[in-house]
Amino acid sequence: MRNEIMGVSFDNLTLSEAIQKGADLAAGPGFSYVVTPNPEIVNMGREMPDYRDILNNAALVLPDGIGVIHAAKILGTPLKERVPGIDFATGLLSELEKTGGRLFLLGAKPGVADQAAENLKKKYPKLTICGTNDGYFKDSAPVVEKIKAAQADVAFVCLGAPKQERWIAEYGPQTGAHLMVGLGGVLDVYAGNVKRAPVIWQKMGLEWFYRLVHQPSRFGRMAKLPLFLVDAKKESKKRGKA
Ligand code: UDP
Repeated sequence: MRNEIMGVSFDNLTLSEAIQKGADLAAGPGFSYVVTPNPEIVNMGREMPDYRDILNNAALVLPDGIGVIHAAKILGTPLKERVPGIDFATGLLSELEKTGGRLFLLGAKPGVADQAAENLKKKYPKLTICGTNDGYFKDSAPVVEKIKAAQADVAFVCLGAPKQERWIAEYGPQTGAHLMVGLGGVLDVYAGNVKRAPVIWQKMGLEWFYRLVHQPSRFGRMAKLPLFLVDAKKESKKRGKA
């Protein structure tokens, strides 16, 4: 059961339901991937149909932004709750620790994934992090080989959107991993370079505002977000008439 929000079909799951499904996918067989679109990513999908298809072909499409939740309500197809990519990823870490699944960290500036791995190993002592690679490589083939040689079950792919989802769709199946998750700036948070909003801000749906205050360079990207809700309103009127 998926709810279509401005061209992207989201799974209507709670965070814990999503984590459980993620853990099942990580155990294989085969290859699948998870995407965590926020309104900005949905908008990219509206501009690039091939990218929208990549999003919709994911095994799990999780609503990362409060804007997606608002748009879903406006469209009359509400979603159970926001499922932030970082919370999904963190839940998966605990599952991998239990099952012995092997995790590869791909993305961010040189050194960040290593720092993230070091921090995660302290917090999840039984977790196997089987390899890391920064996200500024030119040639993908050696990265594919590295993931394959590491015998990764799961890879967190943090190259920013739309690059990470495109990379996953093109190269993921060649790596032998069972599950890849596109996670944006998550390695920067695990490495301790970027702080998340306090929980109270997250609960109030204001995480985006916290990020804006701390990274003002995001203003240009975020200025488009109110328009997203205006477009959702227009779309809901159209649906009402259909
Ligand atoms: N990044 C990367 N390779 C690139 C471009 C970006 O590894 O070619 C990384 C960047 O260093 C950052 C992440 O991708 O760690 C994107 O973070 P951002 O906060 O923009 O993502 P969001 O969470 O907003 O999607």
